[in-house]
Amino acid sequence: MTASNPTRRIFALVPAAGVGARMQAACPKQYLEVAPGVTMLAATVEALARVEAIGRIYVAVSPEDGYVDGIDLPERARVLRTGGSTRALTVANTLAALACEMADDDLVLVHDAARPLLHAADVRTLIETVIRAQEAGTAAGAVLAMPVHDTVKRVDHSGVLTEDLDREGLVRIATPQCFAYGLLKKALAAAGPAVTDESGAVRAIGGKVLAVPCSPETFKVTRNTDLALARKLLAAGTPSPAQSTQPTMNAVNPPMVPPMLPELRIGLGYDSHRLAAGRKFILGGVDIPHTLGLDGHSDADALLHAVTDAILGAAHCGNIGILFPDNDPAYRGADSTALLAAAWDKVQATGPWAVINLDCVVVAQKPKLNPHVEAMAQRIAAILGTDPARISIKPKTNEKLGFEGREEGISVQAAVLLGKLR
Ligand code: MG
Repeated sequence: MTASNPTRRIFALVPAAGVGARMQAACPKQYLEVAPGVTMLAATVEALARVEAIGRIYVAVSPEDGYVDGIDLPERARVLRTGGSTRALTVANTLAALACEMADDDLVLVHDAARPLLHAADVRTLIETVIRAQEAGTAAGAVLAMPVHDTVKRVDHSGVLTEDLDREGLVRIATPQCFAYGLLKKALAAAGPAVTDESGAVRAIGGKVLAVPCSPETFKVTRNTDLALARKLLAAGTPSPAQSTQPTMNAVNPPMVPPMLPELRIGLGYDSHRLAAGRKFILGGVDIPHTLGLDGHSDADALLHAVTDAILGAAHCGNIGILFPDNDPAYRGADSTALLAAAWDKVQATGPWAVINLDCVVVAQKPKLNPHVEAMAQRIAAILGTDPARISIKPKTNEKLGFEGREEGISVQAAVLLGKLR
């Protein structure tokens, strides 16, 4: 396929920074086993490695990923810690990081980590299609897509069928999605972080994209039922050797792997502090200008105290009053970011844990807190080693009711979900 253009280089990029919330597993879904000792990510990368034309395969994980070092990946794979809070950001960050290694003309195949049953023959057809279309000037790139054979209807929120759709011409978009490096980078920069697939971004800047039919086994593992099906198909030797150039990993009929037990822990935290003159108003580690400040033994950062109690509660590590007593002179005027960091260390000693998400409510009549929410989330995220996108902080005024409404004090509630890294 590269014969028509021997200088054309082909790379693959596997964004694998997601948390797979729908599977409710203890680890991100790409690290669940699809065969004994074989994670979904390893199986997916191996499927790409069966395509000889692909040079390097870049696997993009989140900076705090604690699993990837423990799995076996093919020789051609390189792990980059370039993951972002969305798929589009992960791909964009990775393309940016590879600017010195890739030329605008190189082809990049972006492939989901959760499609381990990729057929090498489909990928070869995809690459040939893109090279021919680009040479002929008929399209900018192509994606694998599954034809829709079922009757398709629209359904409303209560489950009532509302519209019969014509399935003629409908396809389910899969991956890899194949485009030239320069074009893909430009398209993702224009589309922003919310775009869900590369073809959408390329089409949005006017690029024509072809759909190349692929095997229905290219489905994405999203729910537990998909995982069970993927395991069954891999155990049965799919894709078959005829569909790839190397034997499949499970020729010996291994037993089914029991699903990994989820280890998720919820923590709840609450705190309140009085408002007083002559004190600073420090919340979420951010010094916020206000006529009154928060009063307490430490810096009285009620948000960080609630978060501290939430993480301690999740990991069964006691509470903030036990760890940092308010009659201990050591904590007079203490910076609560240091207290949260110390509590997180204590929590990690029972882990390692990762923050899946943190959700907080701050009840304060004044000052206006929305302008500071992002800075607070960044402060907390840095301490907990997570992404600010996993942290929500929601200010409420309480409609002048209660001690918060009378501006006597503020209160904070925090709920955290921790996932144990294996
Ligand atoms: Mg407190």
